[in-house]
Amino acid sequence: MAERPYIVGNWKMNGTRAMLSEARAIDRAAQRYMKAEVAVAPPYTLIHAVHREAEQIGVGAQDCFPGDDGAHTGDISATMIADAGAKFVILGHSERRADHRETADQINAKIQSALDAGLRIILCCGETLPTREKGEAEKFVLDQLRASLPQIEDAAERLTVAYEPVWAIGTGKTATPADIEAMHRAIRRLLDETYGEEHSAQVRILYGGSVKPENAREILSLPEVGGALVGGASLSAESFLGIVVAA
Ligand code: PEP
Repeated sequence: MAERPYIVGNWKMNGTRAMLSEARAIDRAAQRYMKAEVAVAPPYTLIHAVHREAEQIGVGAQDCFPGDDGAHTGDISATMIADAGAKFVILGHSERRADHRETADQINAKIQSALDAGLRIILCCGETLPTREKGEAEKFVLDQLRASLPQIEDAAERLTVAYEPVWAIGTGKTATPADIEAMHRAIRRLLDETYGEEHSAQVRILYGGSVKPENAREILSLPEVGGALVGGASLSAESFLGIVVAA
């Protein structure tokens, strides 16, 4: 498994230039605290500015258009994101699957565009509460991943998977340590089958869903948890850095 935990802030649709001071504070702390790999995904409008400010932290996007540059009013391609300074893109987030009815085919096309543009990918998966209550969480998550894992061995080195139970996102609820551990182990087995153990070992599996400074240490110490994808608590440098330090 990759050594350093990967702590990624997903700013979602938050942030004007005033947020650059938070990015600077995160970057300064990340320069001192090298035990974790730290990154943020601001909205498109701030990618270039955060990239210019950041010496240590990685900068990424929260989505990209599934195809080449061209006549697609309002869309942003993976090439543009990379040109702005992004090194990765979050794809398949449950908010995009729900709000934009993103299908596996669309997510796959986005993954291909991102790989072609030289970006790393954070591929999100996660079940809803009714699915978990029916006892079908693991099957659902593995099916979601089977439908979208890029089927080339060398994609593994640019891939991160984020397990984010939908019912835990932004709700203050987190999955139990036992459930997180079981799901991460199941995802690891699927990665081993898909890429072989050597390549699979390069893929970190992040947990996301109401991670905050108070619960980060317990979650991040679980086997196969290679870091965290953090929404709400990444919007202030203080709380985000509380998670980074807990890692
Ligand atoms: C997310 O949306 O990726 C997320 C994990 O959000 P939160 O931390 O706010 O639950």
